[in-house]
Amino acid sequence: MSTTSSSGRTNQLTHKKSPPHRVGAQDREASAAAIDSERTRVRAMLQEIIEGPTATMRPTTDQAGSPSASMTVPIGYIPTPTREYRQHRKLLRATTGVASRPAIRIIPEREAGRVVIPIPIPIPRIIGSRVLMWKQDPSVSEIGIRKAFLPGLMLAGPKDSRISIQGLPLVSPNAMADYIETPGTQEFDAVHTFAVVRQMLTLAQRARGGAVAPWQWNSASNTDAISVFPRAGVTPNAFYSRNLKALKFFFFTKPGSPPGTPQVFTCRSFDIVAHETGHAILDGLKPGWLDPSNQPQTGGLHESFGDLCAIFLTLSQLDQVEAVIAQTKANLHDKTFLADMAEEFGLALGRPNGLRNADNDLKLSEVTNEVHDLSQVFTGGIYDVLADMFAFERKPGLRDDARVLLEVGEYLFGLIVRAIAAAPAANATFADIANQMLTIAHTDGKPVQYRNFIRNRFTVREVVVSPTPLTADHKVGMKLLPAFAEELGVAQDRRGCCGTMQLPEYNQGDRVFEDDLEDLRSLFSDNGRVKPSHR
Ligand SMILES: [Zn+2]
Repeated sequence: MSTTSSSGRTNQLTHKKSPPHRVGAQDREASAAAIDSERTRVRAMLQEIIEGPTATMRPTTDQAGSPSASMTVPIGYIPTPTREYRQHRKLLRATTGVASRPAIRIIPEREAGRVVIPIPIPIPRIIGSRVLMWKQDPSVSEIGIRKAFLPGLMLAGPKDSRISIQGLPLVSPNAMADYIETPGTQEFDAVHTFAVVRQMLTLAQRARGGAVAPWQWNSASNTDAISVFPRAGVTPNAFYSRNLKALKFFFFTKPGSPPGTPQVFTCRSFDIVAHETGHAILDGLKPGWLDPSNQPQTGGLHESFGDLCAIFLTLSQLDQVEAVIAQTKANLHDKTFLADMAEEFGLALGRPNGLRNADNDLKLSEVTNEVHDLSQVFTGGIYDVLADMFAFERKPGLRDDARVLLEVGEYLFGLIVRAIAAAPAANATFADIANQMLTIAHTDGKPVQYRNFIRNRFTVREVVVSPTPLTADHKVGMKLLPAFAEELGVAQDRRGCCGTMQLPEYNQGDRVFEDDLEDLRSLFSDNGRVKPSHR
């Protein structure tokens, strides 16, 4: 028997010699030193690729003078190839002597002509980037920052087809398409703000069963993204502007604070970014709701939706849900950052009780017609329903509490978004939303307890009146009447709201501005003569 021996040939790469040229001894020494230096650099680079990085990131300068600009990213936050992958590469190098796979495999002669059958294992093509972001904001130090994976295309900016960061130098991805920046820098702020807006938009679209949540100006002929300005200027404010197609986040030093006090960047607050994005998402769904001619409760729904977005975005992230469970021992009415967070920012924005306290007991008769005051009643009612549904669904012996809370949060947010979509295009009331939630929960096949929770909580808060005792089950199809008559024609007082609700563009300020210009124009006749003012 004879066997076919291999050719024994080895494929060697040969380098072409450089064309000869005359050099002096000094030139040769310098050249040799340069080559040595380059060899060392390349060796270190290869070592780093194979073994993983060994140094911390170099901080970048924060032009706005943030005091935390000198922070460095712990090495654990920097995504690297996995340990298994690196072991595989080490083994490969030890057995073949080749550090990395050549880009082109030269097919030996014995394989030439053989039909190569592809391995029938589909290789998933995953598009997405990893980012670093604040879990809440820099003041909530115990939970700090997190790595997050944002599926889908994320381009330098950062931007995607729906969101574009503006007003800061372009942030580019690293070689692994990730955006790992240093906390405290403007680059980190750009990535964090983009990540929260993107996560909020994704959550809203999931709540709509995957349907696109358009911006208010989007149409078949207008696919403009929303421009997001993480550092729009110095003032204690943040807002969504339909006219500018933008979200703007400002920064400031608290008035009266001593020199050297750190600035407050509203873009670093997970809650504030989620809240303002909520205004933009709701404006896309219900363009009529921002107009001040709506009754006060409609304004209250807009302001409440922003706060609810911050709560439900938090509840969509497993690590935050686990933190809530541990902090409250699974009782959502215990004090938690979920209902009571970003107080520092809220106080700085001029709200007496911080950004919000969702776990309140306010009834309609206990608040004024001021829109933010009103919003707390609706937000509090939803928070109670959340706590009720979670307590009802808890089965720690069967399923982990965090998993249950994540699912309850996902369902309830979807219920709210669908109830809003089904509500009137103008002058919607809290009772309209509560009634839609009752209808949809039944259609979804949820147990009657879900409807009881909704009815009972909004009855106690004087939003609706229940004709049946709260101890009896809610009858299918029973519509609940509002406890207070609608207040059509009552002007909205938005003094306690965020920057969005106070923008002139939503408060007939644009009309007043135009009227003033028209007055100015009318002062002058065609002949340049001054006409008397009608005022
Ligand atoms: Zn707001």
